[in-house]
Amino acid sequence: MKKERVLITGGAGFLGSHLCDRFIKEGYHVIAMDNLITGDLSNIEHLFKHPDFEFYHHDVSTFVHVPGELKYILHFASPASPIDYLKIPIQTLKVGSLGIHNLLGLARVKKSRILIASTSEVYGDPLVHPQPEEYYGNVNPAGPRGVYDEAKRFQEAMTMAYHTYHSLDTRIVRIFNTYGPRMRLNDGRVLPAFIGQALRGEDLTVFGDGSQTRSFCYVSDQVEGIFRLLMSDYHFPVNIGNPDEITILQFAEEIIKLTGTQQKIIRRPLPQDDPKQRQPDITRAKELLGWEPKVSRAEGLKITYEYFKSLSRDLLFQRDYKNFEKYVR
Ligand code: UDP
Repeated sequence: MKKERVLITGGAGFLGSHLCDRFIKEGYHVIAMDNLITGDLSNIEHLFKHPDFEFYHHDVSTFVHVPGELKYILHFASPASPIDYLKIPIQTLKVGSLGIHNLLGLARVKKSRILIASTSEVYGDPLVHPQPEEYYGNVNPAGPRGVYDEAKRFQEAMTMAYHTYHSLDTRIVRIFNTYGPRMRLNDGRVLPAFIGQALRGEDLTVFGDGSQTRSFCYVSDQVEGIFRLLMSDYHFPVNIGNPDEITILQFAEEIIKLTGTQQKIIRRPLPQDDPKQRQPDITRAKELLGWEPKVSRAEGLKITYEYFKSLSRDLLFQRDYKNFEKYVR
C-alpha cells in the first residue's frame, strides 16, 4: 500500500529529527528538509537506510519544491536559541517569514495540512503567569530576541491568514523550553551549556541572579503533544510544554548534583530582554488533546546526560556550527 507522505522542515534539527523518527514509526513516508546551518545529519543518519526516508538538503527561505503528494507539512526549520539569533539574525527572520510563505504556498498546491512550530517567545517577557494562549505577550521588536519573536509572531499571523483566506488546513503549536538527546551541545541554551560545562570541567555560568524561571519539557512528551495536535481539528495556537517550573539557579544546582561535578556556579550578566518567568498554561492541550507531560525532569535529565556523555570529545569542545562558514554569508 502507498504510504502517506510527510514533509518535515528542520528535519535534521533537535525536534525535527525526533519528529522524523515518530512519523517513520507511525508508518509514513518521511521527507526531511534542512539547510544544515544549525541542524546536523548525525541526528538522522540512522534513518537513511530506511526505504521510507528521504533527505533534501535545501534552505526553505528559497522556493521549495517537493514532487508528489504531501499529506502533512511540519515547519520546524529555524534557529532556536538566543545565541543563534545573535549570530544569524537575518536567517532567523527569513526562515520565519520567507520560509513560511513558501511552505504555505506548497501546502496550498499539495492540499496538505500544515503544522507550524511557534514558541513561548511570542509571549516575550510575560506579564501574565502562567501563560495561556489568550495572552498577547510583551515583546521588544527591536531587542536581540526580536528577530526570533517577531518572525514567529508573523508566522502565526501568516498561517492564520492562509487559514481564513485560502481555507488552508493549519495547526499552530507554541513550544515551551524542550530538552533531550540531540540538542546541540554548543547552542548556548541553558541545559547543554550547563551539562557541557560540567563535562569539560568548567564552572557553570548562571546569568543574572538566577531567579528567572523556566519550565522544561522532555522531548518525547513534546513530540506526543505535537502529533496529537496535528491529528486534531483545532487551528488556533496550542501551548505544549511542561508546567513544572524551576529557577535557573535551582536548575544549575540540579545539574551539579546529576553530573557530580566539583565545579562551582559563577555569575554572568543577564542578557537583554531575558524573560523573568516562563510557565505554560496547558489547560487547552489537556482539554482538546487529552495530553499532558509524563516524563519528570529527573528522568529526562538522566537520559539527556547519558546522551551528552556519549558524544566525542571533539564535539564537546567544538564552539561553533559545523557548517557556519559555508552557509552564513
Ligand atoms: N542561562 C544561564 N546560563 C547559561 C545559559 C542560559 O543562566 O549559560 C539562562 C538564560 O539567561 C535564561 C535561561 O537560562 O534565563 C534559559 O536560557 P536558554 O538560552 O536556554 O533559552 P530561553 O528560555 O531564554 O529562550
